Amino acid sequence: MPKLRIPWKSIRWSNTIFLLSTLIVALTAVPAYLWHEGLPRIQIIMFFVLFIATGMSITLGYHRLFSHRAFQASWPVRFLTLVFGAAAFENSALAWAADHRRHHKFVDNEEDPYDATKGLFHSHIGWILFKSQEDSSLDLVRDLQKDRLVAWQNDYYLPISITVGFALPAIIGGIWGGWSGALGGFLIPGVARLVLVQHFTFCINSLCHSIGRQPYSSACTARDSAIMAFVTFGEGYHNFHHTFQHDYRNGLKPWQFDPTKWTIWILHKLGLACSLRRVPQERVLLAEIKEQQRCLAKELQTYPNRLSEPIRSRLHAAQLRIHEAFGQWELREAEYCRVLERKIEASREKLIELRQELRNSRDRFRIAIHDWRESYRLALDHFAAHAAA
Ligand SMILES: [Zn+2]
Ligand SMILES: [Zn+2]
Repeated sequence: MPKLRIPWKSIRWSNTIFLLSTLIVALTAVPAYLWHEGLPRIQIIMFFVLFIATGMSITLGYHRLFSHRAFQASWPVRFLTLVFGAAAFENSALAWAADHRRHHKFVDNEEDPYDATKGLFHSHIGWILFKSQEDSSLDLVRDLQKDRLVAWQNDYYLPISITVGFALPAIIGGIWGGWSGALGGFLIPGVARLVLVQHFTFCINSLCHSIGRQPYSSACTARDSAIMAFVTFGEGYHNFHHTFQHDYRNGLKPWQFDPTKWTIWILHKLGLACSLRRVPQERVLLAEIKEQQRCLAKELQTYPNRLSEPIRSRLHAAQLRIHEAFGQWELREAEYCRVLERKIEASREKLIELRQELRNSRDRFRIAIHDWRESYRLALDHFAAHAAA
């Protein structure tokens, strides 16, 4: 049996003591409190309010707003996500974004702080408990350092996190139910909520890189999973996210569970957020098709005789048509955007003409996609028939 060797010298003691002690308290003192005192309604309400506030501050604030600049937000949104994000005890937004931008830049490589290829334990919590590399350079977050609220949260991170994460629920619990209520506030919406939020959000780095499908790209380990989306406030559509990291959506399809996206959209409607970034649907479709083409090419390498020559040439022709149609659409879109940004002077008639051309090129691209899908389905049927024979 292999011996478990603990690299004592690389332990980050403050992180390890904090994460272990909160976990132990959540597993021992919390059930003991519930056994003796029951579960008052105020504790349930505080637990859910703080759970959602701190969890969403990480996904909406730390992640999509600060790390990816997927939208812009007014100061109350930035302030609240910074204050409640601190109560998730996952570091300041500045340090969190530095790690996260490095994760996207060097995904699955040595430089990636939570490199998923090093195993589930490392990507989930091991990278926090053990020092395996230098801390992320702040060079990647120079833009965020200019944000005065982000800089303030970075300077006072610990007092903010302790006040909002532990003291606030204890004080409210105390007002409601005396010393027993204060203890309950510290234990249930404080410690138990914290452990749950941390492990749910840690799953984005671990399970979201190992469970699910890769419809947009298999270039890295990130995956899309509806189950993971339920426990990560919508971040489970991680394959889409790694393919289009600046999009404010993770769950692209209307039926996909992405409460972070819905909240950003509501904030936008309320005038509290603007400049929501979305990748055009055409680029998403092209990414999906490219991934299907890559899988097919891989299959054909293993089983070169499973497709007849006519189907191969039909696929090849459909592929060429897609790339040509996409190239045309891309040109038209760039021209139309330049006119809209007033980098090119154009009359009203010219604008209408450009819009129509863009629409036509989009239609041609959609037809080419439809052709490709037909050919692809035919190829899959042939593969299945050959495999069954
Ligand atoms: Zn990731
Ligand atoms: Zn990200």
